Amino acid sequence: MTTQATYQNLSYGITVMDAEYITPDLAAIYIVEQDGEVAIIETGTNHSIPYILQVLETKRLNFDNVRYIIPTHVHLDHAGGAGGLMDLCVNAELVVHPFGAAHLIDPSKLIAGATSVYGEEKFKNLYGDIKSIDQKRVIQAEDGFKLSMNGREFEFLDTPGHAKHHFCIYDKQSNGVFSGDTFGISYPQLITDEGRFIFATTTPVQFDPDALLNSIEKILNKSPEKIYLTHFSEITPTPVIIKQLKDSVNAFRKIALDAIDVSENRITVLNQNIQSYLLEKLTELGSKQSTEFQQSVIKFDSELNAQGLDFWLKKYHDS
Ligand SMILES: [Zn+2]
Repeated sequence: MTTQATYQNLSYGITVMDAEYITPDLAAIYIVEQDGEVAIIETGTNHSIPYILQVLETKRLNFDNVRYIIPTHVHLDHAGGAGGLMDLCVNAELVVHPFGAAHLIDPSKLIAGATSVYGEEKFKNLYGDIKSIDQKRVIQAEDGFKLSMNGREFEFLDTPGHAKHHFCIYDKQSNGVFSGDTFGISYPQLITDEGRFIFATTTPVQFDPDALLNSIEKILNKSPEKIYLTHFSEITPTPVIIKQLKDSVNAFRKIALDAIDVSENRITVLNQNIQSYLLEKLTELGSKQSTEFQQSVIKFDSELNAQGLDFWLKKYHDS
């Protein structure tokens, strides 16, 4: 059932909207408008599409105005709606990382991978029918690639670490970076004395802590005023935020390496240690919210991060 879209107009023609994925304020989609042309950065899932249309209509725009559809990487909360949207946005080209392109042109591997995790029924409920995309409409953006939309320049930065098929988009006009999952996760519901709370995402199956730290640095080298997070909305990269984010990458790596010899229920152990770390940090930063509330917000990512760290250990460190 499609209800009312939740969105917020930011500056510079940028609108952040809720992708309506699992819970409110979990995954964002950005609509960037420049003189009647639109770039959609992150697609959410197929279920997000009617909400995208609603937001376009509030601006007297429709799918015909969409020029570019740009998922930061091919994880399904970011790119699951790409095929469905491309069908509806007939003037649009898809811009994707060269390592992700094949998976959106022919999504059979993405579908098989996610179905093996969720089962067929849950997969359909979460993502709907993932559609293929005509490769003639696909632009593969290498590191440093620049795109102009009515004179507005987007520069693509190759940013591995969360995933090898991940780029970030530097928007010169707003001096902001659309960071996908590379600049971590910060839910606005979590409030501390120091402002927003942020931590890295180590989702399976390509977490690489050194690459991630380099990619964070690469984003910061642009001296952005704003970072547009997919999880969730815009954030100012203050020294406190940058330190929290980098510390979390190192902390998660240490949590993983400390669990290297755990032979049973390693994911559970990792999950507990990630949760303890995050709750401790929240206290340190002066959060006054209840532990139950904090846990309810971090639970989903803590579990995903634990799975990703376990995978990383299996791949590089288990013998
Ligand atoms: Zn991701």
